[in-house]
Amino acid sequence: MDYDLFVIGGGSAGVRCARISAGHGARVGVAEERFWGGTCVNVGCVPKKLLVQAGEYGAWADDAAGFGWTIQKGSHDWPKLIAAKDREITRLEGIYRKLLANAGAQVFDARATFIDAHTLDVGGKRVTAERIVIATGGHPERPPIPGAELGIVSDAAFYLKRMPKRIAIVGSGYIAVEFAGIFRALGAETHLIYRQPLPLRGFDQDMREGLAEALAAQGVVLHPGCRPEAVAADGEGRLLTYGDGKTLAVDLVFFATGRRPSTAGLGLEDVGVATSAGGAVIVDDHLRTSQPHIYAMGDVTDRVNLTPVATAEGHALADSLFGRTPHSISLANVPSAVFSSPPIATVGLTEEQAAARGPVDVYVTRFTPMRHTLTGRNRKTLMKLLVDQATQKVLGVHMLGEDAPEIIQGMAIAVVMGATKADFDRTIGIHPTAAEEFVTLRTRTRVAGVAEAAA
Ligand code: NDP
Repeated sequence: MDYDLFVIGGGSAGVRCARISAGHGARVGVAEERFWGGTCVNVGCVPKKLLVQAGEYGAWADDAAGFGWTIQKGSHDWPKLIAAKDREITRLEGIYRKLLANAGAQVFDARATFIDAHTLDVGGKRVTAERIVIATGGHPERPPIPGAELGIVSDAAFYLKRMPKRIAIVGSGYIAVEFAGIFRALGAETHLIYRQPLPLRGFDQDMREGLAEALAAQGVVLHPGCRPEAVAADGEGRLLTYGDGKTLAVDLVFFATGRRPSTAGLGLEDVGVATSAGGAVIVDDHLRTSQPHIYAMGDVTDRVNLTPVATAEGHALADSLFGRTPHSISLANVPSAVFSSPPIATVGLTEEQAAARGPVDVYVTRFTPMRHTLTGRNRKTLMKLLVDQATQKVLGVHMLGEDAPEIIQGMAIAVVMGATKADFDRTIGIHPTAAEEFVTLRTRTRVAGVAEAAA
């Protein structure tokens, strides 16, 4: 065999797995057909957060007046922002590539597909490997409606030549609400069209309600309970038909309607790697596919589609195969954040999930952050703790508000460790912060889960 391990895909999962495996002394090859660092570095988490930050500066310039500053806010230069973002992404992409080469992995800028169970075609070259990892990620998908190709998906949103004046974003998952915040903060008339009554299906109900209010307060026009029906060209612009035949004239239609695992054309069916109806590679707890020497990780498995999960999986597999510390990762209590405006961050169960398991004490607090008592900006913070009545363990921590992702990362350690409400209560707060509310929640808001548990 040419390699001990060949990794298909140079994204978060693949790069980590290849790098750590090579560090353990394995002979490693890794192929990437598009960009090193994958979605996260190039058309996902990293550039997205830079765009979110661009929007925040605009609001801060307005806020400053409340603190006595006289600031003349000029216009925003979108091409300048995109150029600055592109420079940073190019730098990061180079770092990812170099990390692999420095670790001793052989790097191929090519597409890799299966010829047989141990042989790959890598850009026209045949290579053989003892073990193979599929880490090809996913890609955004448009809904099957007439004219869908006239709308963009998130990949293109990062490279728009001009900022749209009016935009319709379809969907209300992570990507939809994050970009709604970005385009609105940069000055676009922003419409969010989604089929649920509230955005972010699957999140805690209080957070969803709070987010809908926050989006509206930011000036995003919400269209709940609406399905997209068709897109047509309207001169340079677009006409979106949605709901029951309503139309919206905009410059840009953006479909943030979900992502799909990228498995088409890899030849998986020929080598007996089982996939789900949606195209995801099916894996067990040790990332093994239906072929014992072929593994899959990250978004291509469509389990928890988050970069830190992908990197942790890559690291765990490398250690298990070639290091002396075999382990797998737990997908329980994975914290995550939505970089909406303000952001949401969460770890553990939602109230709905916790209530289904038994009685829970629910603590909720909502307040205006100190900063906005002077700015006058209509921006609330919402914090929530869910405590199992029987064990007193904190089952879920949720926050909508400024710095939520930074705060919840620390809370996640406590939840993963199995902290109880008494542990939170005996922790001294840091004053004056929003975060201290999590350790000073004394009055229970309500009890949930009694009826559910009895049923
Ligand atoms: P999500 O799966 O989160 O959301 C998809 C949205 O599109 C939902 O609102 C869904 O509605 C809607 N939708 C799907 N199909 C249709 C349709 N045919 N017509 C109308 N609406 C439709 O996908 P995203 O693309 O936002 O994100 C993909 C994944 O990427 C996330 O789940 C997350 O794992 C990851 N991600 C994480 C981020 C972070 O950590 N901050 C940021 C961005 C992405 P409905 O609810 O009704 O099904």
